[in-house]
Amino acid sequence: MGNLVEENLKTVRQQMELACQASGRNIEDVKLLLATKTVPPEKMQMAIQAGETLFGENKAQELRDKFPLIQEDDGVEWHFIGHLQTNKVKEVVKYVTLIHSLDRLKLGQALHHQLLKENKTMDILVQINTSYEESKFGAAPETAVELVEQLAQLETLNVKGLMTIGKLNATNDETRHCFRLLRLIQAQVMEKKLPSVEMDILSMGMSGDFKVAIEEGATIIRVGTSIFGQRYLPDNYYWNENVLQGD
Ligand SMILES: *Cc1c(COP(=O)(O)O)cnc(C)c1O
Repeated sequence: MGNLVEENLKTVRQQMELACQASGRNIEDVKLLLATKTVPPEKMQMAIQAGETLFGENKAQELRDKFPLIQEDDGVEWHFIGHLQTNKVKEVVKYVTLIHSLDRLKLGQALHHQLLKENKTMDILVQINTSYEESKFGAAPETAVELVEQLAQLETLNVKGLMTIGKLNATNDETRHCFRLLRLIQAQVMEKKLPSVEMDILSMGMSGDFKVAIEEGATIIRVGTSIFGQRYLPDNYYWNENVLQGD
């Protein structure tokens, strides 16, 4: 029996195929992450039934609440994609295999401290604010290379690439510019040939712009609305919290 989540997934997967064809890319090189903030576990289960395995959450609390409700033997993997406060690090490292939103040294240090205690390592992406919008988190593009160098010193962190949120409600050209900037920073970092740094992952593209992101080299796209429908909370609840950027 079909359901709406399954139908939407089919459409998104088809659009991914088309974008790959249009840009001469291999579909195997682009992963679909389901952005599941506010999405109830029953709907996530529908996506699992349809064969999906990669979920991204924005808040530690929501991650903790939903994690035990999803069966582990479905091969499910969780990533963290939201703004991360230093006091939530301990919670988040319990559940996720990749943190997309490492955007400041202080957060890297807090993470390192926690991982040392647990004798663990963690894969991370460095989030860059390529749109220069104040409402969004992410390191300034000009500081990106230096931040990666600093994070590379923390031996519990494995830098795997970069993440960005493209400019919202913008023209294709404007979002494309954001994604190109991320790729440019990727090249700048690779030039440094830092021993413990890999730059294979580019996490970029959401419901409104994932086709452009694929054309520009995304290896993970993060899609929510196109699969699960409109959320009842506005995005600035997640992106423009009253928290200090430097906490
Ligand atoms: C919510 C969210 C997405 C997905 O956005 P949609 O427009 O619903 O596809 C992607 N990335 C991040 C960081 C998000 O918070």
